[in-house]
Amino acid sequence: MIGPMRPVIVAGNWKMHTTPADAGELAATIARRTNERDVVRILCPPFVCLAAVRDALAAEPAGGDVAVGAQTVHHELAGAYTGEVSAAMLRGLATWTIVGHSERRRDAGETDALVNQKIRRALEVGLKVILCVGEQLEDREAGRAEAVVSSQVAGSLRELQGGASSLTIAYEPVWAIGTGRTARGVDAAEMASVIRRTLGELGFAAGGEDVSVLYGGSVTGATIDEFMNEPAIDGALVGGASLKPDEMAAIVARAGLTARARAGATTD
Ligand code: PEP
Repeated sequence: MIGPMRPVIVAGNWKMHTTPADAGELAATIARRTNERDVVRILCPPFVCLAAVRDALAAEPAGGDVAVGAQTVHHELAGAYTGEVSAAMLRGLATWTIVGHSERRRDAGETDALVNQKIRRALEVGLKVILCVGEQLEDREAGRAEAVVSSQVAGSLRELQGGASSLTIAYEPVWAIGTGRTARGVDAAEMASVIRRTLGELGFAAGGEDVSVLYGGSVTGATIDEFMNEPAIDGALVGGASLKPDEMAAIVARAGLTARARAGATTD
């Protein structure tokens, strides 16, 4: 039986790097170097660089297919929240947002309940969401990785039915983010199955099988292969390497091979 045709996605999380003066040029360079129609490409610069990236991609012939995403949104659409940015404010600037990144869970104390509110606000204004989940090293060593990730998915998506077209989940083991250490492809694939099983329990259509699950954690051109070889993994959320056009070119090229192989398998 042929499974659902999930999009292959490569998203770059620029974290707190780049400025409005240099972000546009970096985005345009990445767009040129990753010109793969079969891969959904998303660049997530800091808030203050969103307009520069949007404008640079609009001016770049290869930039039309590259989407712009935010790195987080506030859990309310407006109000007395000094320094915050709401989903509503991103209209015209971004079409995606990352939510629940482990650095925000760690630094801003974001809980699953708060992440759930953020996802609601994002979906309300039509933003597509990349929800990040992932266990700490001690959870994995204690055999709790599956339970932790399943509980994050359930808590973050409680009473939510964002369709597969508006929701992507990134499995990002916290111990692999920015450390140069990656999960094994087979373990990431097992966690993708856990995530989809949880989506099924939550009542998602097709038992969650049509939701793309990405791997994130020290992905580079040298490490992407192992993940793209796994049928359960649909691409990557890339941090540090997403600031390097050479790395993004290699990652997206490898993702493109998988996208075309999957498309061929469904049309044969
Ligand atoms: C991330 O920020 O989501 C990430 C996976 O970072 P890195 O690729 O640098 O580990």
